[in-house]
Amino acid sequence: MEAINKPTNEFAEIEEVTDNRAFVREHLYSGSQLRQRSQQASNPTAQRALAEKVKHLLVRENAVLIAHYYTDPLIQALAEETGGCVADSLEMARFGAQHSAEKLLVAGVRFMGETAKILTPHKTVIMPRLEATCSLDEGCPPDEFAAFCDQHPDRTVVVYANTSAAVKARADWVVTSSIALKLVEHLMDQGEAILWAPDKHLGHYVQYKTGADMLMWDGACIVHEEFKAKGLQELKRVYPDAAVLVHPESPMPVIELADVVGSTSQLIHAAKTLPHKQCIVATDQGIFYKMQQAAADKELIIAPTGGHGATCRSCANCPWMAMNELDSMVTALETGGNEISLDPELAEKAMLPLRRMLNFKL
Ligand code: SF4
Repeated sequence: MEAINKPTNEFAEIEEVTDNRAFVREHLYSGSQLRQRSQQASNPTAQRALAEKVKHLLVRENAVLIAHYYTDPLIQALAEETGGCVADSLEMARFGAQHSAEKLLVAGVRFMGETAKILTPHKTVIMPRLEATCSLDEGCPPDEFAAFCDQHPDRTVVVYANTSAAVKARADWVVTSSIALKLVEHLMDQGEAILWAPDKHLGHYVQYKTGADMLMWDGACIVHEEFKAKGLQELKRVYPDAAVLVHPESPMPVIELADVVGSTSQLIHAAKTLPHKQCIVATDQGIFYKMQQAAADKELIIAPTGGHGATCRSCANCPWMAMNELDSMVTALETGGNEISLDPELAEKAMLPLRRMLNFKL
């Protein structure tokens, strides 16, 4: 009888995969489930009424809605419907600068509103909630960052877009994740050593890919930092044919499991163009709205965050992005409150590295 038994360790492996499949399916939300969950969360009639009000106020105020990929799908849909845009932070800034509207309603986090104001100082920039910030921005206080730069005057200062205007004002370059690799390669060609802030994970990824001399600030995104390599390995065993798409704000062990590493726009493009029928996605769940539009025939699965002890394995939802709600958009438009205002001298200093980024040719 022993001859027909499979080896014990193989049995164990099969049981483990079966357990994982049940466990993973029970604890994960797919892209379409996440969208439904978002739309069911609030009273749909009330949501529709608020959306109509926002539409009316956008026209009355000669304003345009610019939303980030991580905002609620309802807000992204409203931006599309009203001639605004849904994009990553770089494209949001470009769109606002080029649009004819007098007022920009920026649905995202504070540094995005500040960037819009720096690039278009003559326009009024308002946000649903000024308290909507970012752990990368919060973790890089301007005074401490200036002291760090002062200790390393020989290094070229490159900061991620997810920083305050004051931190940008201290930088030589601003980058987004979509151009980080190319820009660092360019600086390496010029023989420059780099001081990088604030995201250490993105910095380590860029350093790993380019071999550049980079001194890192110790910052991280609280959303991407939660993706777990072990959970992702388990999920890959359940969906062995799926492509793994990872944002580079994730830790290196997660990045190492990726088929594609890229910015939000690059991940959407990958979901659309890769031949795989399933994609496991490690970034904020808000991206599923545009990703599913771009790749309607694909099954999108969110990468796991918590460990086995967690009650939910796929939160992946930025708490600050979630502060963008329709009722606060109505209030901001009605009252003109929540306006971004910056010291003109500071804004002018921050404009220089931002302009360098916008003029940088890939
Ligand atoms: S997802 Fe992360 S990087 Fe993006 S705004 Fe939220 S905390 Fe910042």
